[in-house]
Amino acid sequence: MDLKTLKKVFLNLQTFTSDLPVPLVELTMIQTNDPFKVLVATILSARTKDSLTITILPKLFEKVKTIDDLKKIKQEQLEKLIYPIGFYKNKAKFLKQLPKALDEKFNGVIPQIVEEVVLLPGVGRKTANLVVSVGFDKPAICVDTHVHKIMNRFGFLETKNPLETEMELRKKLPQNMWQETNRIIVAFGQYQCVPVSPKCSSCPVKKYCERKGVMKSR
Ligand code: SF4
Repeated sequence: MDLKTLKKVFLNLQTFTSDLPVPLVELTMIQTNDPFKVLVATILSARTKDSLTITILPKLFEKVKTIDDLKKIKQEQLEKLIYPIGFYKNKAKFLKQLPKALDEKFNGVIPQIVEEVVLLPGVGRKTANLVVSVGFDKPAICVDTHVHKIMNRFGFLETKNPLETEMELRKKLPQNMWQETNRIIVAFGQYQCVPVSPKCSSCPVKKYCERKGVMKSR
């Protein structure tokens, strides 16, 4: 698939995904307009379903509204607030380490560059891209398993892992497509082009897709 075709696919998918639920991190930004809360939501949502994380955030944000609140709260109390989220003990530990890391490395301010955000506890490249893109509305490409898999299925890329996919997308996509890539493709991957047995027979973009690596579909 070439870039011209991918643009047509994105146009189709913008319509297709417009009725689907807004992903958790975007929803957090819409509701709070606060990059700190976006950072917290992205750390908590790692390897956890949005539907679970979404139930945790309101009670957490009642108690933790600022970086200062994170400084004051006890780790055990944080653990209770975010339970039963996946890896809740580790995530509570990362959140507790956040104020110190921000103070020591960035004068207490959340950085807006991916290479700096990844230096924060509990933050990988995927999370950092999401914070920059959603929290600060700056060009970044968050590549999760959906983006990695689907870009390869389309035949737009031939990459082995999400990091390689991110680097290739940064080269091949114009910047004005970076931020929408995650939003559109993740929703599409959750509901249509699912990781195992994608729903190709009802797919709105099947006429463009090369279905690379798809062995089994519905
Ligand atoms: S045709 Fe199948 S593999 Fe291609 S995008 Fe659609 S669901 Fe995914």
